[in-house]
Amino acid sequence: MAEYQCTIKNPVSVEGVGLHTGQKGTITFHPAEAGHGVKFRRTDKPGNPVIPAHIDYVVDTSRGTAIGIGDLRIYTIEHVMASLTGLGIDNVMIDVDVEEMPIRDGSAKYFVEALQNAGIQPQLQEREYIIITEELRLSDPEKGFELKVEPAGHFMADVKIDYNTQVLNVQTAHLERLEDFAKEIAPCRTFVFLHELEFLLHNNLIKGGDLDNAIVFINRAVSQEELDRLADLFKKPKVKVKPEGILNNLELHFDNEPARHKLLDLIGDLSLVGRRIKGHFTVYKPGHYANTEFARLIYKHTKH
Ligand SMILES: [Zn+2]
Repeated sequence: MAEYQCTIKNPVSVEGVGLHTGQKGTITFHPAEAGHGVKFRRTDKPGNPVIPAHIDYVVDTSRGTAIGIGDLRIYTIEHVMASLTGLGIDNVMIDVDVEEMPIRDGSAKYFVEALQNAGIQPQLQEREYIIITEELRLSDPEKGFELKVEPAGHFMADVKIDYNTQVLNVQTAHLERLEDFAKEIAPCRTFVFLHELEFLLHNNLIKGGDLDNAIVFINRAVSQEELDRLADLFKKPKVKVKPEGILNNLELHFDNEPARHKLLDLIGDLSLVGRRIKGHFTVYKPGHYANTEFARLIYKHTKH
């Protein structure tokens, strides 16, 4: 049975601050014609330059996935991209008036809700897939990641994370089909270890953080004095460490929320091949660098 491309019925906006830049901005999804794909348009720049959401435009994967042309950048696109893929939306123009996507609670929930409210509109053109016909692998013994994709009738993914720390055990997450994304994966928030958070804070790389947009894992002994300083920095009342090793500002949505979030990022990064993929992904220690390099490999190995 043919499947058709989809766009949204109405424009819809999401506001918020970027995690790393702290800049407040608005992103607005607009319907787009079949064959358009996903593109970002910087409405705050002269001539409103457009950057396609495609692997060829990926310029940085250090703290999130960024695309760019010349010195123009759009940072942290992965949660937006995963939301579109997870909801089966192929064609949108995304107007942005800021260079980093809003972090909101660190999940894809706000984008998914906005897009669901906008309504999904099937179009007349058939959807084209990248069909995996042979197993492909990418690994890096130094970085430790191993990614594999095998032929399958639809997109499916298994993710395993291992940070070699007691506070966050080896965890797995499984997505049987993209239809489960909105419920099972979209609400899962990003996470950070305390030492990373301190590094980011000291280097002024986290300006939009407020302890509500990431799960913070405490993987070393930490004094109440240090926690008080952290609470001060984030303008929060007293923070404590919960028995499961996370700060007491939130409850986990799922026991394996971190692994599920990595699956969310994987979907977002893989979508940069520009088409839906039919294949079963088995991924160990994913990250934006590994994911986008794998997307590049898949793109190179398939016909266009
Ligand atoms: Zn993420």
